[in-house]
Amino acid sequence: MIPVRDDLRALEGYHSAQVDVDVRLNTNESPFSPPDGFRDALAAEMSRVDWNRYPDRAASALRADIAALHGCDPAQVFVANGSNEVLQTVLLAYAGPGRTVVTFEPTYQMHAQIARVTGATVVEGERGDDFTLDPSEVDRVLAEARPHVVFLTSPNNPTGLVEPRERVEQLLASAPGLVVVDEAYAQFANWSALDMVDESKPLVVTRTFSKTWSMAGARLGYLVGPTWLVAELDKVVLPYHLDVVKQLAGRVALRYTDEMNERVALLVSERDRITAALRVLPIDVFESGANFVLFRPQATDGRSVWQALVDRSVLVRDCSSWPRLDNCLRVTVGTPDENDRFLAALADTLSSSGPAGSADTRKA
Ligand code: PMP
Repeated sequence: MIPVRDDLRALEGYHSAQVDVDVRLNTNESPFSPPDGFRDALAAEMSRVDWNRYPDRAASALRADIAALHGCDPAQVFVANGSNEVLQTVLLAYAGPGRTVVTFEPTYQMHAQIARVTGATVVEGERGDDFTLDPSEVDRVLAEARPHVVFLTSPNNPTGLVEPRERVEQLLASAPGLVVVDEAYAQFANWSALDMVDESKPLVVTRTFSKTWSMAGARLGYLVGPTWLVAELDKVVLPYHLDVVKQLAGRVALRYTDEMNERVALLVSERDRITAALRVLPIDVFESGANFVLFRPQATDGRSVWQALVDRSVLVRDCSSWPRLDNCLRVTVGTPDENDRFLAALADTLSSSGPAGSADTRKA
């Protein structure tokens, strides 16, 4: 073995347990396949591909389609392999050794993880016990860290909380560097920072095809930002990083905007149904603007509830040992049937786990 870079030695990587179950509600994917017609339309497009040629390096047609969706200039759109690669490219360009990145925890783990991989120093601001972000904490962290990049995730993952617009305005007014608003779940929320993007502001908004567009398998994400910033990202990314199939899949998906909106509406109503059902159980529930709900069993430890759900063939995300998320579990909104299965399994689990404290005996 040869030693890895010193600063990478302590990194643990990103893990999500996969267990063989009937109801899989742990990774915030869409529970639905793409709309009828998507597969045939994509197959027809693929039959015309020149496989011996490199794809359009600039992904111009896909950028133009995304720009049309958001009413912006195609030169304001940067596209990559999932929003994770978008974030990585941003951090390669604007973070790196000697630079500082700020996150407000708990939030999406990959922001800090990718920043560290680029060699940047990560400074973690703290959210309150209810996971809201106090404006004074924002001021404190920005003043102390003077970050080159600051992240805000709205709706936040894993908490589900939607940041108020004023928090983005505050960051723009006082951050010395780039502000990244990660909107992987924004279609499920009641507002977006997209309309705040313009040439004069160091603001980018990242989006993904993985959730609402039922295309997690395709790995496609993008950002909308100022053209001068997108031009820098284009210099950093590998040539031809976006394969021809993905470019086509993204363009075909965008033909089905109405169907996408219907699915979002269904998932939002299911999310609200799950939230209401959890509230009548002995559980703390966090208000979500995303396609998942974070909750904390009050009297039973989170890990044993997670295991009991797995025993009932339902998989949720176990956040119970993550920093600041003691005992918390996160359920992705599934189909109505899957959500029924989850709610029944959870009610059954809690009713059989007995009074406060008894769950301790079940800890591994
Ligand atoms: N941002 C957030 C907040 C996420 O939760 C995720 C997926 N878990 C991503 C970005 C990455 O999504 P993808 O790479 O699939 O586009």
